[in-house]
Amino acid sequence: MTYRSILLAWLLCLLPFSVACAAPERIPVRVGVFDNPPIVGTASGVAPEGIAIDMIRWVAEREGWQVTYVADSFDRLVSRLEKGEIDLLVGVAYSEERARRFQFTRENLLGNWGMVFRHAQADIASLPDLKGKRVALMRGSTHSQALVQLAEQFEAPFTPVYVDTYPQVLEAIVERRAEAGAVNRVFAALHAHTQDVVATAIVYNPIYVHYAAPQQANPALLAALDRHLAALKADPESAYYESLRKWLEAAPAHRYPSWLPWVAGAAGGLLGLALAIAAFLRHQVRRQTGELQRRAELLQSEIEQREKVQQHLNQLAYFDGLTRLPNREGFRIELNKMLAELQGTDERLALLFVDVDRLKNVNDGLGHGAGDLLLQHIAERLRSVLRAHDYLSRFGGDEFVVIVSEIGESSDAELVATRLLSSLAAPVDIGPTRIYSSASIGIALYPDDATTVDTLLKHADTAMYQAKEQGGNRFLFYHAQQTARVVERLTLDTRLRQALERGELMLHYQPIVALDDRRMVGVEALVRWNDPEKGLVMPGAFVQAAEDTGLIVPLGEWVLEAGCAQLRGWQQQGMASRLTLAVNVSTRQFEGRRLVKSVEQALARTGLAPECLELEITENVMLIMNDDVRWSLDTLREMGVRLSLDDFGTGYSSLSYLKQLPFHALKIDQSFVSRIPGLAGDTQIITTILALAKGLELEVIAEGIETQAQYDFLRDRGCEFGQGYLMGRPLAAGELAARMDRPELARND
Ligand code: C2E
Ligand code: MG
Ligand code: MG
Repeated sequence: MTYRSILLAWLLCLLPFSVACAAPERIPVRVGVFDNPPIVGTASGVAPEGIAIDMIRWVAEREGWQVTYVADSFDRLVSRLEKGEIDLLVGVAYSEERARRFQFTRENLLGNWGMVFRHAQADIASLPDLKGKRVALMRGSTHSQALVQLAEQFEAPFTPVYVDTYPQVLEAIVERRAEAGAVNRVFAALHAHTQDVVATAIVYNPIYVHYAAPQQANPALLAALDRHLAALKADPESAYYESLRKWLEAAPAHRYPSWLPWVAGAAGGLLGLALAIAAFLRHQVRRQTGELQRRAELLQSEIEQREKVQQHLNQLAYFDGLTRLPNREGFRIELNKMLAELQGTDERLALLFVDVDRLKNVNDGLGHGAGDLLLQHIAERLRSVLRAHDYLSRFGGDEFVVIVSEIGESSDAELVATRLLSSLAAPVDIGPTRIYSSASIGIALYPDDATTVDTLLKHADTAMYQAKEQGGNRFLFYHAQQTARVVERLTLDTRLRQALERGELMLHYQPIVALDDRRMVGVEALVRWNDPEKGLVMPGAFVQAAEDTGLIVPLGEWVLEAGCAQLRGWQQQGMASRLTLAVNVSTRQFEGRRLVKSVEQALARTGLAPECLELEITENVMLIMNDDVRWSLDTLREMGVRLSLDDFGTGYSSLSYLKQLPFHALKIDQSFVSRIPGLAGDTQIITTILALAKGLELEVIAEGIETQAQYDFLRDRGCEFGQGYLMGRPLAAGELAARMDRPELARND
């Protein structure tokens, strides 16, 4: 055999083997990298490096990946990942928003969080200090977004100075283009050690860094990463901990130049023996350090979990879910803290107890969903007019409490209260319904009125109560006399119940006349309380309380029956044959369809014809327009009972409802009448209401006519009916009967 033939035979022998062993095709994987050491670094210019890259290499070797690295800014890499231009992006912090756009490895690479560093000369200790400062942020980082949001929540907005990498964040601080900057804690551990850059106490946004892949990615890529990462993390001796040690234990802020190992190697040769011993010892230390590191990581992730849970619990315990404002507990803690700080100084603060007027009507009428929406709007409006150092909280229901600090004069608190009230003036549209809201505000001052949380609250609440009693949409300062009135109010309910049982209630009747000839066409029954101690008490002093407690229902039933009995009595005596009896009905009487039953009963017991009865219902009935109310109104109309809308123009009116509902008449509230013939704007309202009523074929009754000029004005513009002191004050039945035989009510009292 020649040398050639031997070689040929040998080659032929090898051929099948080499075909069988041809390297399997490697899977191409494009990995996005950016400069965020030590997780991933691209600054060396040669090849990317860092913890995330070590792991990629480890997995690539075992999975047969042909990795190519695509270096770009993080921002651009994220959009390239989304477009599928790269297969993996390393070192991506998990967020729910990102999880909707990408897939993430289940296993995290490591836990991380944001830290704020400041220039040594900048005066920044906590988050509120960032307000108005320039803060360097890495574009596209979750920590950047989180800090911006956090600062907004704390009302400490700053000016972001965006850069592309974390090292540039530090540069910006050193070069004083920013007073502070945010980096992650892993980067900080390695690099934030320059003299000019100091850590602040602002630590936030605990996150986990993962690998991310596009939505449509090959699931095998992430699965392989997960499998290997899980195995690596379980073994303290693994390449994972090796990598962590390599990158996290490196001397801060220093990287070795590439020639250094050679020089060091040469020098090392001389010290070989000594180092061998040292290396052995070091190996031992490292093993233990690795274990410690692993435990520290575990502990760290546990702490982060707990912090999250704690934050959530705090949120539940101290914040109101609906408006996200601090709740009663949160408020207490804050006020206690503030009062402690104020002790020994001569500073003052004001507590403003804000109670939304008539929220119950909205809840009852439009449902609690609408009430909740309204409350959210209100919270937002209140917040928008307060200063950053004022503290707004929600006590639940319709109650908000504001702490106004830095009060000089009490007029400062007055100013805030005025601003709060006017913030509510514009209507809120909830679905098709336009709602006009207002509030009653009570103000108590520290230390003038009280010095403890409880007493301050009690006094502010008392003052609020008075503001509400005076009709709402106003504020009142606390005065000691108010407490006495509240106590009186508390006993009112009991006394009123007794009054009803003991027959201390009575009715007065006020004439309603046709304006063209002053002929009496009806009477309105108005309740009075003949209190043995106080004499005649007007309804303004007790009707609202009776509405609040529900006593208005039996009270209203009594009025209905007593009024019907009276008119029937007059009719039987041959008087008042063409008069109707108007009875005021509270919206609470509609509850459970009870009103129809009580009307039927009153008519049946007294024998009065339904056509002689007119029920006056306030405009607010529009807000509780549920099935019961609609059914009741329709049934009453079918029975022949007349219905009128009382106090028109003062409450909530929905013209679309007005058209659908079976009303016969509307009563223009006396507040409008009292302003005519006065200014053009006021008279315009009356003219409009008259035109509207005509269009809807409703009769109009003007209330509170006191002067001849008002009378003439109304009559001349086509208002058919009127009621007022000019034509007749409310009188006891006997007194009115004496005048009943007069054909017209020309003049009286
Ligand atoms: P309302 O139904 O609007 O009754 C008209 C009120 O205006 C009455 O006051 C009446 O005395 C007063 N008034 C009449 N003419 C004039 C006038 O020319 N000038 C002025 N300044 N006032 C005039 P009153 O009797 O104090 O009743 C107040 C409110 O109490 C009533 O307003 C009504 O809402 C409520 N109310 C009275 N009786 C009852 C009742 O039996 N049941 C219910 N639910 N509410 C009642
Ligand atoms: Mg009335
Ligand atoms: Mg009225």
